[in-house]
Amino acid sequence: MLKKGYKLYSVLLGKCPRCHEESMYTTKNPYKMSTTLKLNVKCSSCGLKYQIEPSFFYGSMYVSYPIGIAFTVPPFIISHVLCKASLLITFFAITGTLILCLPVIARLARNVWINFFVNYDKDVLKKHENTSS
Ligand SMILES: [Zn+2]
Repeated sequence: MLKKGYKLYSVLLGKCPRCHEESMYTTKNPYKMSTTLKLNVKCSSCGLKYQIEPSFFYGSMYVSYPIGIAFTVPPFIISHVLCKASLLITFFAITGTLILCLPVIARLARNVWINFFVNYDKDVLKKHENTSS
């Protein structure tokens, strides 16, 4: 399921949504704060421009909300249900998890957002070779 051709591949690994050949981000590590959300201008394999229109990735904020909620479930279950911690301790566990995972959540939201609009095209590299030569 995590192989080229599936949206999940592009979403989880931050690959170009059209060709799945290379990362959209300038750095692989999301915790390098100065470049967490820094994208390459376009894919060098297929030529897809990642910033489809000005402020395109503002829409990813809508996606980051449910992803953030999904990230709160494990700390809630671990601290409140399994360890029987108080609600205050659970609150801090959830808040800490969200703060620690913020770069990952932001990148996942961007990946999901661009994958709403761009589909995988297995023939795009052949087309790109024909047009560029
Ligand atoms: Zn590409």
